[in-house]
Amino acid sequence: MINIVLFGPPGSGKGTQAQNLIKKFNLKQISTGDLFRFNMKNNTELGRLAKTYIDRGELVPDEVTTEMLKEEVQKTGNVNGFIFDGYPRTANQTEALEKIVKEVLNDEISVCLSLVVEDEVLVTRLLKRGETSGRTDDSNEEIIRTRIAEYYAKTAEVAELYKQHGKYVEINGVGDVDEISEKLFAAVGNLK
Ligand code: AMP
Repeated sequence: MINIVLFGPPGSGKGTQAQNLIKKFNLKQISTGDLFRFNMKNNTELGRLAKTYIDRGELVPDEVTTEMLKEEVQKTGNVNGFIFDGYPRTANQTEALEKIVKEVLNDEISVCLSLVVEDEVLVTRLLKRGETSGRTDDSNEEIIRTRIAEYYAKTAEVAELYKQHGKYVEINGVGDVDEISEKLFAAVGNLK
């Protein structure tokens, strides 16, 4: 299996690039952000809880997020592997993911592909996306800046963990979408 952690700050292009990686390698994408938004749209208990954090630009607590992620991995059938988009976002989640992949799939994370984009570009991109995404957390600059601050406070250390395991590849996330995809494809190609 190819199990990819697609990593980067909000607005770095993870969702867009995940679509291209899925097609290229026949993978299943699991986006915890999308799962939360699905739950919020359907007004589930989980959705109502998540909303209180998401609307402020803060991370949803680890236990809730990890439980949701695990269920999604368990219910997935035959695929070549997974793209984890937006998870892990803390050191704790990184450890949890390793365990889940081992227990449920008897496998391991192949690589962490990290999209690097500077902060001011992120803010501009997210405000632009907010014009059409309908996402409350994209529509307000203060919330966007909180999300970026959460990334540095809690998420950036995830990169360090993958670096320590020799599984970290950084890619410039600014430029032509297809050219960035080609660089990601090459990084995955190098795994074999
Ligand atoms: P995203 O679509 O990945 O930008 O996620 C949107 C929001 O969902 C984030 O700002 C968090 O509030 C929440 N969220 C998504 N994934 C996670 C995660 N792995 N851990 C905690 N909160 C998350």
